[in-house]
Parts: sequence; C-alpha cells; structure tokens
Amino acid sequence: MHHAIVLAEPAPLAEVSLDWREVETPEPSEGQLRIRVAGCGVCRSNLHMIEGDWVGGGLPAFTPIVPGHEVTGIVDAVGAGVEGFQVGDRVGTQPLWWTCEECEHCLGGREQYCARRITAGERVDGGYAEYMLSTAAHTYRVPPELDLVAAAPLFCPGITAYTAVSSLGLRRGERVAVFGLGGVGHMAVQFAALAGAEVTAVARNPSHLEAAGELGATTLVDVTDDDAVAALRGTMDAAVLFAPSDAVARTARASVRLGGRIVSGVNADFGTIRFAEGKSYSGSLLGSRAAMHEVLALAAAGRIRTVVEEFPLREAREALDRLARGEIRSRGVLRMMDDAETRPRVARRDGSRASQQHR
Ligand SMILES: [Zn+2]
Ligand SMILES: [Zn+2]
Repeated sequence: MHHAIVLAEPAPLAEVSLDWREVETPEPSEGQLRIRVAGCGVCRSNLHMIEGDWVGGGLPAFTPIVPGHEVTGIVDAVGAGVEGFQVGDRVGTQPLWWTCEECEHCLGGREQYCARRITAGERVDGGYAEYMLSTAAHTYRVPPELDLVAAAPLFCPGITAYTAVSSLGLRRGERVAVFGLGGVGHMAVQFAALAGAEVTAVARNPSHLEAAGELGATTLVDVTDDDAVAALRGTMDAAVLFAPSDAVARTARASVRLGGRIVSGVNADFGTIRFAEGKSYSGSLLGSRAAMHEVLALAAAGRIRTVVEEFPLREAREALDRLARGEIRSRGVLRMMDDAETRPRVARRDGSRASQQHR
C-alpha cells in the first residue's frame, strides 16, 4: 500500500473530494516500470479535470483516479521485457503515458498527436502518489545534474513551451511576446531568449512578470495596463499564447506585425482571421520524445531552469487552491522524497545547482 491523492468525482474545487489516502501499490506489467515518485508538478490541466471541465470529453476516464502527469522519481520495479532501465534509475515521465507506435503520428515523430494516446492522471492513475506505473517507452532518464523535484516541470511546462517556441522558428533579434507566464510561460520566455529573440513578457500577475524578467525577458508588460498593451500593436514578429483568455488572444494577435506568426498552447478565440494580414496561426500540444530529450539536455547544461514552489503530497489541495487563485509564482510541485534523495548527483559544469525555492 502507499499514499496517493485520490479524486472521487470531479466537482468545483471548494467541494471536491480529493483525499490523501492509502491505495494498492500496483505491479508493473510487460513493458512497464514502477516509479517511486519524487516530485509531481501541479498543472492547470489537473485543475480543469478535477473541476469537471472535461467531463463532456470523457475525462477522467474513470473514478476514483489519481491525477498528475509531470512526474520524476526512482525506478522501483521493472516489468517483463523492459530493456534499458533498472531499479534505482532516476527517471521522469511526461503527460504522454502511452502511444500506439503504429499510426502516422507515432511513426512521424509527432506521437503527441496519436489519437489513441493515453495521458497520465486522466486515463491511468498519475503522479499525485508515492508510486506510479509508467510505460518504459515513454520514460526518460533525468540527468544527474538535476534535482528530481526541480526537474518535474520540465516534463510538461518544459516540453510544451519548447515545442511551441521551436515551431515559430525564431531568428536572432526577432521580437517575440509571451502571453501568460505561469508554468508554461516561464519556460517559453527562456526558450525564446535562448533562440536569440528579444522577449516581451505579458501577464497580469506582478510576481510572474518579475520572474520573467529574471529568466530573460527584456520588456515586461502588465496586461491590465491599457496604454502599455496598445503600444504593443504591430510591434512583434511572433507571439506565444498560454493565457486561456479570448481577450488576451486578440491582444496577442494585434501585437503581431503583418505577416507575423502566432502559436497557441491553449484554446482561444482569436476573432476572424483576416487573410490580408498574412498572419499565421498554429496550435501546439506537448511534444515528442525526441524533443523531451533535448529539453533535458538543455536543463542539464544549465541553459534553462525551472522555478518551483514545493508542497508536501498531502497538501495537494492547497497547491491547487493557490494555483486557482493565481498565487503560484511559476510552478507548484508536490514533493514525496527527502532532499537527500532528490538532489543532483553531480555538480553542473559551472558548479551551480538548479534554482529552487523552498516554501
Ligand atoms: Zn502539466
Ligand atoms: Zn499512434
């Protein structure tokens, strides 16, 4: 048996039954690993599922269910037929828990669009738990330079931001605006800066803007400041949208020059697409395994970092409440292991440790 946070039935956060309790510890089947969880990020999409926003789309697929999909930990048991992993390995998994490996998306390196994909914490039990099963084919080694808890958000905000920003093909010196600076946005700022772009960060939350400034944004815009927002009009080569707001989507669209490009990681209404503006719009979901390896390599080299606020597993509800109220600076992460077990195994070449905020 082990402890997990169990969602009984989706409901508004104030009423939902989301209890810390003992559950059966599962055995890994063929091709699976059992992970002793170190950290699991608290994602806005967890909040959507918990509150019932996705019931119409069939999620969660069953109840009671353990949420959570940006997970790191240590391999605890190895199922039959698994090669390349052994007990004691430091690993992580992204929301993509399983894919079919035979459709055009899986074969084309875009497996995140597999129609049969299984997402952790939505169609199988996820990482708000002391133990979780993973599919070995969708499990990654966490580089020894990284703390396991700080690394957890690389597996959802990290990969999501990396794929979205990469899709813009930013050139050195181009101007890009990032709208929405929560978990994903704070990573997007860094990938855009890494590409050599001049980054403008746009958000409502002052602490999010401050973090964006520390992570490489050179211009910070308060989205509630009408004059500052009006001044953005037509000035950007590209925009990245992670704020789930139609009003912000339209602001993002207006900020981009004629012929500019916009990528969105949320559902939003940009208004009528005017062909004569020549702007291109695209959507971006998570990222492939190949991209995930690139994100981990960039983090190990100290080129990007996560900013996390930690909570004990039992306080998942508190973390979700704070996320709903906009009080998490960048990413909340549930911690299930002592620091001694999660800390980096080697120093980075520059001798520094990953940045991490303890509450
Ligand atoms: Zn996530
Ligand atoms: Zn597939």
